[in-house]
Amino acid sequence: MNDKRQLEKTYDPRPVEEKWIRFWQDEGLYIADAKSVKPKFSMVLPPPNVTGILHMGHALCFTLPDIITRWKRMQGYNCLWLPGTDHASIAVHNVIEQSLAEKGLSREKVGREEFLRIAWDWKAKYGGVITGQLKKLGASLDWSRERFTMDPGFSRAVKHVFVSLYNEGLIYRDYYLVNRCPRCQTVLSDIEIEHRDLHGKLWYIKYPVEGSDEAIVVATTRPETMLGDTAVAVHPDDERFMHLHGKRVLLPLRNRLIPVITDERVEREFGTGAVKVTPAHDPVDFELGKLHNLEQVIVIDGSGKMTDAAGPEFRGLDRFECRARVIDKLRTLGLLVKTEDYDHAVGHCYRCKSVIEPYLSWQWFVRIKPLADKATRVVETGEILFIPANWTKTYFEWMHNIHDWCISRQLWWGHRIPAWYCRDCKHAMVAVEAPEKCEKCGGALDQDEDVLDTWFSSALWPFGTLGWPDETDDLQTFYPTDLMSTGFDIIFFWVARMIMMGLKFRGRIPFRHVFINGLVRDLKRRKMSKSEGNIIDPLEMIEKYGADALRFTLAALAVPGMDLALSEERMAGYQAFANKIWNASRFVLMNIGERPADVQESELSLADRWIRSRLATIIESVTRSLEQYKFYEAADVLYHFIWHEFCDWYLEFAKVGLRQGNSTTQAVLADTLGQIVRLLHPFMPFITEEIGQYLPGAGRSVAIAPFPAPQTHWTDVEAEKIMALIQEVIVETRKIRAENRIAPKEKIELWVKSSASPETRALGRHVPLIQTLAGVAKLEFRAEFPSGKPVLKGVAGLFELAIPIDMAAGLAAEKQRIGRELQKIAADIAKLEQKLGNADFVAKAPPAIVGENRTRLEALRDRRAKLEKNPAHLAPET
Ligand SMILES: [Zn+2]
Ligand SMILES: [Zn+2]
Repeated sequence: MNDKRQLEKTYDPRPVEEKWIRFWQDEGLYIADAKSVKPKFSMVLPPPNVTGILHMGHALCFTLPDIITRWKRMQGYNCLWLPGTDHASIAVHNVIEQSLAEKGLSREKVGREEFLRIAWDWKAKYGGVITGQLKKLGASLDWSRERFTMDPGFSRAVKHVFVSLYNEGLIYRDYYLVNRCPRCQTVLSDIEIEHRDLHGKLWYIKYPVEGSDEAIVVATTRPETMLGDTAVAVHPDDERFMHLHGKRVLLPLRNRLIPVITDERVEREFGTGAVKVTPAHDPVDFELGKLHNLEQVIVIDGSGKMTDAAGPEFRGLDRFECRARVIDKLRTLGLLVKTEDYDHAVGHCYRCKSVIEPYLSWQWFVRIKPLADKATRVVETGEILFIPANWTKTYFEWMHNIHDWCISRQLWWGHRIPAWYCRDCKHAMVAVEAPEKCEKCGGALDQDEDVLDTWFSSALWPFGTLGWPDETDDLQTFYPTDLMSTGFDIIFFWVARMIMMGLKFRGRIPFRHVFINGLVRDLKRRKMSKSEGNIIDPLEMIEKYGADALRFTLAALAVPGMDLALSEERMAGYQAFANKIWNASRFVLMNIGERPADVQESELSLADRWIRSRLATIIESVTRSLEQYKFYEAADVLYHFIWHEFCDWYLEFAKVGLRQGNSTTQAVLADTLGQIVRLLHPFMPFITEEIGQYLPGAGRSVAIAPFPAPQTHWTDVEAEKIMALIQEVIVETRKIRAENRIAPKEKIELWVKSSASPETRALGRHVPLIQTLAGVAKLEFRAEFPSGKPVLKGVAGLFELAIPIDMAAGLAAEKQRIGRELQKIAADIAKLEQKLGNADFVAKAPPAIVGENRTRLEALRDRRAKLEKNPAHLAPET
């Protein structure tokens, strides 16, 4: 699509990236075809929160699968990468509540309908931010299939799943403890609770044993909850309480008899070893209560006030006021044994900082065991693979300790639970479509006020996005998907539940491979956080270094099972890499002519044979690395091949061939660059598309050009061996030149000690390469180096090298220069020796400064020793 055959002088990522984002979109290159006969490769994007702003964790989680899907697309697969966003129940709910609070309103004041209207407006206005940012990253998503977890189709899928699980008895309603802020009058999720250490008290209270003079002493930080105690628990093996097993104690202040129960979860070291059990007001006690069939007595209501069940003395009191009264009363009765200071973490409301209260209420649950068992088996059999494999263990640990899943949330933004209750007979009905009246008594119905946990809907993502519950072509073609790339923190919340739901409703796993990303940290391996001030913003990095540099950095750092130590320098480094490729491409394009001739096997130079052999190895290596999700390995191999072998060596060698007018070298140059562009495209899609469009025979887009196929017949052991010899000689010659400060433009004479070996003969056939790359005017093979002549010596593998320096003027000048340098070095050494000989300086100066001086002294001594052995210095005066 480019007429001119010349790349811009320098590479500016910004306009180039914008151009190709538009082009890819306009051309519909990433739109999958459900009817295609090609093999398919499919993924669903982990839907970012609709409130989300792209952070580095996203950038990683989206770049790596993009590399895979681009690679697969180039390999000829019918690729679907399906995008979408998650409605993020709590996050959006909070945003709306805050905006209401700023206007002096609350959700109760505006009501449900108005609240939801505001939320949808907000979503329409701000919800698309992250999708735009995904495009900037170069993610090759099929935007024609974009979904939202609350779009009508998806909502239908959610209702179907709920109703079907309910009808099977896998969803039920039960009493459950939730976290509630008594001041905000709302239920909070775990992540909305701030845990702060408080200086509290531990109160020791006597509970008299029935029919005995004995009493059990229990310790508690919340004495007011004792009014709702329904048992005392001890550890079954605790010798101190053996004789009390099966007995009952009298609950003080309420004069109720409650049992002494035994349970292995009781910590013998806490307090006295006996604990009070309040199932309605403590999560641990709640579990104990369920296991031991204890009554749940609610003594604190949703606003933090004591209920009737707390007894006439305490009813209506605020919970903390009640605490004081309870203590007073116990003290008067002689039942308070002692009080200790006790520091412990207490949950606070993140909004108003009130102490949160565990609150018992009706909730919906998924009976998880039958679903979990199947989901465990598919990982056990290897049908689903975790990469790296160590996450399998974590998965099993979670699955084996799984509890029923509480799926109702006391929020308004989300999927409203499709359950209705009869106002008259309290009968509950669950249905996809709202029923008109009670099926039992014909009474009016009210829908459940709660919404579903966000993870309930995201669990359906891999098939809900493909049209389920309808049997669509998309579903037939693209389910199960092939890869899921995500963070370890949501293996349980999300990955496990997608597996359960996929198996339940499709009878098949939702994806074959689960790639677990590392965490992106800073160079000191600290977590990135606002408070540390060490956040690296991906959008800022794209702006500064280009999306390709960011993507390549993430790939190069992505060692499976390891966190990434990210730095801006790294991105600057890969921006330089992009520039290197750009300049190399400019050189190639300027030297290959309009349309290079075909490669004539017989015309291939050693360098041509060598670069093709190396390329064959690289193609194989990159392909293998990508197959194993070793992004870092593929990136590393490409980087070194392109920078060092192609740019630094081959382009220089090719100049020799180009000067000789070798059209095959032109063809190899063009072809190698073309293959490089395609190998690199999954990692750096923008710059490769830009360069690729200028290359002879460019197709519609590099994104759909074939990925380089194996070229095993290019492997040329002989060429690689000879090239290694030549490179060694060039490297050593350059080193001698640099050490002896021979100006780059000065052409030297080089002697190579020869023998009758085949290596010497091979080297002898490629003298022009060495001459061009090492600045050699004349190369001679000599059986012996003549004695008495000053030479600079070196060793290059098998070969001894010598550079004679008998050009009279040069030698004399060099001898003088070395003499002057030695004088200066002597003076510097004397100064440093004096300084470091001064005990006072060594004692008082900062250790770093002393160390620095010592290092400098060492370096100067080394340099002196070297110069003193220099043949020019040793040469007799002329
Ligand atoms: Zn609050
Ligand atoms: Zn009814």
